[in-house]
Amino acid sequence: MKAANVDPGTVDGIVITHLHGDHFAGVPFLILDGQFSRRRRKLTIAGPVGVRARVEAAMEILFPGSTSVARPFEIQWRELKPRHAITVAGFSVNSFEVIHASGAPALALRLSADTTTIAYSGDTEWTDELIAAASKAELFVCEAYAFDKAIKYHLSYRTLADHLKAISAKRVILTHLGSDLLGHLDEVAADVAYDGLMVTIDDD
Ligand SMILES: [Zn+2]
Repeated sequence: MKAANVDPGTVDGIVITHLHGDHFAGVPFLILDGQFSRRRRKLTIAGPVGVRARVEAAMEILFPGSTSVARPFEIQWRELKPRHAITVAGFSVNSFEVIHASGAPALALRLSADTTTIAYSGDTEWTDELIAAASKAELFVCEAYAFDKAIKYHLSYRTLADHLKAISAKRVILTHLGSDLLGHLDEVAADVAYDGLMVTIDDD
């Protein structure tokens, strides 16, 4: 974030799809950054049931004692329940249970503000809940781990491509690419995420 000139102290909310390290292990560092930079702004962290315990367990492994120090800012923890919308940092956040073993329910997310909707699959094998999560979204960020191999708990590009018409999102960006898909990028008709990518949402 700092390399991209984005001040971590300006982040008001974090929503987490599931409790795997590659999806939430950055949170302890953001919290610590807030401590060291004397952040004052409240931070809301929303995620699956048990999110607070899992993030704090990671913090204690990485920085013992870090969960019990006095902080200059408040953290508000919210648990997401499937098909139940809550508000996080001005966004209506709805979640949909997907198929990905991670020690707590795994979710796809649908975030809406004004007329704009952004959806994110998290990690999952195909489920029709992704249609509900991403239907007609301005942006659907979706995992595509493999190109056409079936891998339990993950999506292939081919499977996703078969369903994109039903989802009818305006723009799709693939993420979580494995080596199988990286070897077939010339056959992929979608945008691909990379570290530092910034996306402007056009909602007309
Ligand atoms: Zn995962």
